[in-house]
Amino acid sequence: MEMTKSRLAIRLSQLDTFDNAKEGLEQYPTDSEIAASVLWEAYMHGDIKGKLIADLGAGTGILGIGALLLGAKKVYFVEKDAKAVKLLKQNIEKPSYKVSAGSYEIINDDISDFHKKTDVVLENPPFGTRQKHSDAAFLKKAFETAGIIYTLHKSSTGKYITELAKKNDFAATNIYKFDFPLKRTMRHHTRRIHRIRVSCFRLEKPKLI
Ligand code: SAH
Repeated sequence: MEMTKSRLAIRLSQLDTFDNAKEGLEQYPTDSEIAASVLWEAYMHGDIKGKLIADLGAGTGILGIGALLLGAKKVYFVEKDAKAVKLLKQNIEKPSYKVSAGSYEIINDDISDFHKKTDVVLENPPFGTRQKHSDAAFLKKAFETAGIIYTLHKSSTGKYITELAKKNDFAATNIYKFDFPLKRTMRHHTRRIHRIRVSCFRLEKPKLI
């Protein structure tokens, strides 16, 4: 069956997710509708099909698994939390996804220890609400890894992100805005679902001619 954005969102909603997110790691899983929107935009840009992709801070794998469902050549999943990696393995091995074992590698490590080069980085880094600018390490690693980056951040930090990109010779070609649901998986959240404005930046390093 041909993949569409809404079919992708349904498939991604069937993934297992954290029930006890770790606060220090800011494990805010990407909502399946938002993940599908980001991946669909990337797909339409020609940034997924046949591409080598790194999913940094992969969590339960939603971004990279979605990329594989849309025809990515290979995905590196990098995640330091062993519990998240266990869920990720459980998800990717679901027979219904038909993901072939040769099309991915799961690396249970800190992103700072990842040194491969890829075509594209997909990441939903910690937003730095608990630890200021903890997203900076993710951006730095993304700049080193790929020429095209899809990265999610609180919209309020947009200026900081675009300036940091510019300093690293990247330009923001597109910005997609979402109301991002933070489910009450962490104790300090009082309302059951609370939404924050989040932007996905497509950053590109222009190729030198
Ligand atoms: N990409 C997933 C998870 C986002 S939450 C999704 O979109 O749903 C951010 C993830 O980054 C968490 O799983 C957290 O454990 C992981 N993480 C945080 N700091 C990290 C680091 N330095 N190296 C590797 N993973 C990290």
